[in-house]
Amino acid sequence: MEWDNDPIYQMAQRQFDEVADAMSLDRNLANRLREPDRGILISVPIRMEDGNVKVFDAYRVQHNDTRGPYKGGIRYAPDVTLGEVAALSMWMTWKCAIMNLPLGGAKGGVRIDPTKHSRLELQRLTRRYTSEMVGFIGPQQDIPAPDMGTNEQTMAWVMDTYSQLKGYAIPGVVTGKPIAIGGSLGRTEATGRGVVYTVMEAAKHLNITLGESTKVAIQGFGNVGSHAALKFEKLGCKVTHISDVSGGYVNTKGFNIQHALDYVEKNKSLKGYTEGDSISQKDVLTAPADIVVPAATGHQIDEKVAAQLKCRILAEGANGPTTTEGDRVLKERQKDILVIPDVLANAGGVTVSYFEWVQGLQNFFWSAKEINRELAKLMTKAFEEVMETQKKHKVFMRTAAQMVGIERVAKAMLARGLYP
Ligand code: NAD
Repeated sequence: MEWDNDPIYQMAQRQFDEVADAMSLDRNLANRLREPDRGILISVPIRMEDGNVKVFDAYRVQHNDTRGPYKGGIRYAPDVTLGEVAALSMWMTWKCAIMNLPLGGAKGGVRIDPTKHSRLELQRLTRRYTSEMVGFIGPQQDIPAPDMGTNEQTMAWVMDTYSQLKGYAIPGVVTGKPIAIGGSLGRTEATGRGVVYTVMEAAKHLNITLGESTKVAIQGFGNVGSHAALKFEKLGCKVTHISDVSGGYVNTKGFNIQHALDYVEKNKSLKGYTEGDSISQKDVLTAPADIVVPAATGHQIDEKVAAQLKCRILAEGANGPTTTEGDRVLKERQKDILVIPDVLANAGGVTVSYFEWVQGLQNFFWSAKEINRELAKLMTKAFEEVMETQKKHKVFMRTAAQMVGIERVAKAMLARGLYP
C-alpha cells in the first residue's frame, strides 16, 4: 500500500510489530492488524476568494472497526501525509481499545495551512471534503472529530453538509461539535484534562505530591496544551515553561495561564509575550521541570532531546511526539522518567467524544460534572490497567499500553472470525 513507504507509518508498524512479538500475538491477526482496512484519497477543489480554484490533497484512513464504528479526528496541516494519517488511524484503534470504548480507529487529513485561508475558503473545503466522504462516514460507520487545525466550527460544517445530503439532521456523524447542535459539555477541555488525570495517577505511583513545588513544562498552547496548563494551575502546580509555533517562553515563578490565553486570543499566538523570557522549543522540552507535556506536533523528542530530558514524568499530549530513536533512549531511562504514552495520555478527547456520541444517540445530555467524573474514572482505570500490564510483563510503558489495546482488539477479532 502507498502508506508503507512513509516513515511515520513505518514507525507505527515497527511499534506494532514489537508489541505483537512481546505478546506472542497470533500471526494471522498480526498480519491483518498491521495494515488499515481502507484508505480514501481525494483531491478537493476549492474556489478561493480571489476567484481562482485551488486543489488540496485529502485523506481518510480507516484502520479497524472490529469493536465498533471507526473514530478519529480530521487534521488540517500543510505537511500532513497519507502515511501520517494511516499511522494515526492505527493509534486510534489502540487508544479506543485501551479506554475500552466500543469504537475502532480512523483518521482524516487535508494538506492545507488553515492559518492562510479565510473562513469562507475553509468552509468550502470542509463541505467538499465531507461530500466526497459521504459514503464512508456516518454515526454507525465512521465518526470524525477535530484534530490539529480543525475545531468545533469545522465539525459543525461537516455535520451540516452530511445532514443536507441525507435530508435530515444527523448530529451523531461527528463529535467535538458546538453545544448548540448536540456537542457535549467538557469536550473542548477533555484531552488536556485527561492528560492531567493520567499525570495525577503517575504521581501517586511515584509518590510525588502535586502542588506548589511541582514545575510543569508544556510544548504547544492550543486546545490540549492550554487546557492541561489550566488544570495543572488549578492543582497548584507551577507552569514554568510554555510554547507555541512562535517559540518557547519561561517564567520560573509560573505563568498566569488565563493571561497567556487572553494574549493568544488577542494576538493569535504567544509571539511577543512579555510575561516570560524567550527560549527555544527544545529548552521547553528539556526544561528542569518535574512534568513535561509535549502537546504540539509529532517527532519532537528525538534521541538528543530524550537524552537531555530532566523531568520525572513525560505525558504525551500530542500524537506521536517521540521518534523511534527517542523511544530507544526513553526505554533506557525508564527508571528515571515515567512515560505516559500518547495512546493513554491524550485519550481523554476520544473518551468525551464517545460520551458525546452516546448522548446524541439517546438525545439525553449529561451535566459537566457527570462528564468530568466519568472521564476521570475511565482515565484512572485505563492508567491502572496499563501499569499492571507494565509490571506483569516488565515492558516499556508504550509497549504495555499498546498490549492492553491490541489484546482487546485481537479478542474481538477472534470472536467475530474472518469473513467470508
Ligand atoms: P491545536 O491546533 O489546538 O494546537 C497546537 C499547538 O501547537 C498550537 O499552540 C501551535 O502553535 C503549536 N505548534 C504547532 N506546531 C508547533 C511546533 N512545530 N512547535 C511548537 N509548537 C507548535 O492542536 P491540539 O488540538 O491542541 O492538538 C495538539 C496535539 O494533540 C496534536 O498532536 C493532536 O493530534 C493531539 N491530540 C489532540 C486532541 C484534541 O482533542 N484536540 C486529542 C488527542 C490528541
